[in-house]
Amino acid sequence: MALTDKFGRPITDLRVSVTDRCNFRCVYCRSANPENHMPSADLLSWDEYERLVRILVPMGIRKVRVTGGEPLVRPGVEDFIARLKAVGVLDVSMTTNGYMLAERCDRLVAAGMDRINISLDSLNREKFERITRTKTFDEVIAGIDAAQASRLRPVKVNAVLVRGINDDEVEAFAAFARERDLIVRFIEFMPLDADRAWTRDIVVTGAEVHSRISALWPLVPVAHERSETARKYRFAGGRGEIGLISPVSQPFCGACSRIRLTADGKLRTCLFSKEDHDLKFLLRGGATDREIGDEIVAIVAEKEKGHRINEPGFVPPSRTMVSIGG
Ligand code: SAM
Repeated sequence: MALTDKFGRPITDLRVSVTDRCNFRCVYCRSANPENHMPSADLLSWDEYERLVRILVPMGIRKVRVTGGEPLVRPGVEDFIARLKAVGVLDVSMTTNGYMLAERCDRLVAAGMDRINISLDSLNREKFERITRTKTFDEVIAGIDAAQASRLRPVKVNAVLVRGINDDEVEAFAAFARERDLIVRFIEFMPLDADRAWTRDIVVTGAEVHSRISALWPLVPVAHERSETARKYRFAGGRGEIGLISPVSQPFCGACSRIRLTADGKLRTCLFSKEDHDLKFLLRGGATDREIGDEIVAIVAEKEKGHRINEPGFVPPSRTMVSIGG
């Protein structure tokens, strides 16, 4: 039975968080405390993830994005990628901070990974160190180099813009996309940070980014799938591309095709869901594949119409980005 919600949206994309641990502590994402992660016993095993994906593929899941936390900190992630391909996932990708990518890229490619997104929030070493609370700028750039030298395509670089922190780098990121023939995507800051510092006035909108970049280099819209999160543009006279992901100023929930599985086995139908659904309980409680599939169908049917960030009385979810899986 194909997964469709009650608004008729087909669900084809799964984001799988394989850990809530991360070797970075980005200021707009998690707190400075390094010990705030789940106990290992709470995490799904690779076999449990594989079982769920086996159930989901015949239901129409075609794309799986492996994320976290930082997916490369969980040993065995390459084998998991190979297992995802073996069970018939057409498109397997990963979102990573890039720190361990240079040394792992060949193995990820050999496992069959198709695409990669690398997070990079500043091109200025000092600022990068302040944002990530690490000294890993060179390693991340080496990770981008390794991805570009590999057969992973496309390689996307994601930057979350926060007013007063890195909004002065819009033009520098656009130049980076042109020089390196990369896709740089600008993501609006969402109210999912551990420190609850989000306010509307520190969101840098996609419209602002578009107008600032096109003042320097004319932008040409690029066609995109309806369910894609980014509005895409190429440079009229040059290489590279930019993407604008504007969940706050221009929500794209109407065409959402995504569900999310947290590292502790909870199914979420929206980043901003008020509740999540415990699949680990079913997996470990003797439920059959049929019973788990039926439960997923029922959960997906009730997927939220939209995220409600812009509605009066909006309350952020109790889980932060890192414990949901970005
Ligand atoms: N560790 C990996 C990484 O750094 O890409 C994957 C997990 S991270 C949570 C996934 C993405 O979520 C990153 O691009 C990160 O910048 C983004 N992110 C985290 N907190 C965010 C927030 N409050 N608003 C918007 N994006 C956020």
